[in-house]
Amino acid sequence: MSKIIYKSAEEIELIRESALLVSRTHAEIAKVIAPGVTTIELDRLAETFIRDNGGIPTFLNYGGFPYSLCISLNDQVVHGFPGKYTLVEGDLVSVDCGATLNGFVGDSAYTFAIGEVSDDVKKLMRVTKECLYLGIEKAVVGMRIGDIGHAVQEHAEKNGFGVVKELVGHGVGVKLHEKPEVPNYGKRGAGIKLEEGMVIAIEPMINAGRAGVKFWDDGWTVSTVDKKPSAHYEHTIAVGKGKADILSTFEFVDNVLKEKNNN
Ligand code: MG
Ligand code: MG
Repeated sequence: MSKIIYKSAEEIELIRESALLVSRTHAEIAKVIAPGVTTIELDRLAETFIRDNGGIPTFLNYGGFPYSLCISLNDQVVHGFPGKYTLVEGDLVSVDCGATLNGFVGDSAYTFAIGEVSDDVKKLMRVTKECLYLGIEKAVVGMRIGDIGHAVQEHAEKNGFGVVKELVGHGVGVKLHEKPEVPNYGKRGAGIKLEEGMVIAIEPMINAGRAGVKFWDDGWTVSTVDKKPSAHYEHTIAVGKGKADILSTFEFVDNVLKEKNNN
């Protein structure tokens, strides 16, 4: 059983650099993502951008995963393969990205709407993002892992959505997946205590319908059992005193999308 890898302040700054590279990669994707673009093009763009900036795409060859991005469409929850699929108006696209820079790993996911999506899908995106930040609010010294999951689950279920239980957030920084597991469900005050030096990826995976998922024969792709859409947002954060330090950011990607919508 591996142990939690606690990080020094200096190491947290290095993880921030990696997480910011991931955040900037999401912004590059935002610039081009549109109807007519294939998902493999997004993967190539991400790999090139990460390498041009001195990084390594963390997901590529991780446990045999064959791409730099996980691209999960519509009813796919996570770990989808980029490929020949051409995006169309109304698609919901979750893009998960990891980058290793100077030996440290950042991990962040963002869900994109392609053109106009239904009001139900817009609500799913908004609530999933809210779940992420509600979870992050609990990632402070003295709280417990269950407080994070409880906050995420309560908000999702209050809105009539299903919380994926089979996949969880995780410690991150030296490796992509470290201890502890960070479930998106839980009980207040339950689980291990959060302490300084812990860096975790909080990543709600929220389904528009039922919580259940199925695992594909490709060994990776996960989709909803009821074929309804799913959204996924993720930040790498450092547990802080009174307040979490969010190491990745959606500022870059949101700015690009805002700019696009104004044109
Ligand atoms: Mg991720
Ligand atoms: Mg992750």
